Amino acid sequence: MKMSRPYNFAAGPAAIPEIVLERCQQELLNWQNSGVSILELGHRTEAFEKLLFQVEAKLRVAVSIPENYKIIFLPGGARLQFASIPMNFLGNNRQADYIVTGHWSEVAFSEAQKYGDINLAASSKDDGYFSIPEVNNWKVNAKAAYRYICSNETLVGVQFHQLPQFDNVPLVADMTSDFLSRSIDVNQYGLIFASTQKNMGTTGLCLVIVREDLLNQRQVITPTVVNFAEQAKQHSLYNTPNVFAVYLLGLMLDWLSEQGGIAAIEQINQRKANKLYYLIDDSNDHFYINRVAKNDRSIMNVSFNLAHENLSEKFLNEAKQQGLINLKGHSVTGGARASLYNPVSEAALDTLVNFMKEFEKNN
Ligand code: PMP
Repeated sequence: MKMSRPYNFAAGPAAIPEIVLERCQQELLNWQNSGVSILELGHRTEAFEKLLFQVEAKLRVAVSIPENYKIIFLPGGARLQFASIPMNFLGNNRQADYIVTGHWSEVAFSEAQKYGDINLAASSKDDGYFSIPEVNNWKVNAKAAYRYICSNETLVGVQFHQLPQFDNVPLVADMTSDFLSRSIDVNQYGLIFASTQKNMGTTGLCLVIVREDLLNQRQVITPTVVNFAEQAKQHSLYNTPNVFAVYLLGLMLDWLSEQGGIAAIEQINQRKANKLYYLIDDSNDHFYINRVAKNDRSIMNVSFNLAHENLSEKFLNEAKQQGLINLKGHSVTGGARASLYNPVSEAALDTLVNFMKEFEKNN
């Protein structure tokens, strides 16, 4: 008998479509008639190299990645890139701009300081990280080697909806929690990175998309395993990549394409987020509160507090009983957070919204 699965609103590792998990299960013992599982297959076999090329090609199509951008897969998650990016980009010119809009860009900013002369171009810390700083007030450095943003701050749920244009300084974006959730124009970026445990499957892999002409400015200390030029040259096979995560990414890209691709999923994501924000804003006497500036609200991570904070635990417990799991907010914000990544269906969202309405009525 098939077990009914709960609706999973985890921030990451996050929900994976059931149909994708079933396919993994079916293919596990004998992947593509190789006689062994993907977990046991050498990364230098013809079969795995073919898979790697296919996944790269699917990504290029899904996101319209131009030919002059390299796609590489690295170990160490997104956090390793907080160090790898300055090491790879601050060889000739030691300066970089950082825009700090929450926890993840704050950590990246602090890590980068080990490798160069890092300018805090803007920060919304004084505002509790509930907004994107007003672009007119950014103190950018036109001589910077790159300018860094986190396109979606997972913890509070603050997202860039417009990209500022100042000069030709390459923009570097941490898209860990919103990559594949909405259309982007890759040409606007010098580098995009995202670890894969949100919209791309499972943990242990970080995707880096980097413009070719930026690959010649690394510091001599850069470890080879995170040397973007070397990994690009070796097709991400300098060291043993997480073969299962690459395989699962391929399945997630097939699933995305079956949903109609990014344009279609973006509309669904927007609808899901709108419904939840509407419910929060419409609650009586601010029963539910989201403090993020309306124009900067994330469509992927919706954090909210209950006006009566002592009801939070009851809320989470009752939600769990209704099959709505992993809604606990981050320890920094308290309250609740619903992560609405691509695999979280509209049915999941509707069930959550109905539960929240009922909970408000009864408490
Ligand atoms: N950046 C963002 C925006 C994140 O959400 C996370 C993880 N939640 C990270 C970086 C760190 O990713 P990892 O744990 O894969 O290093």
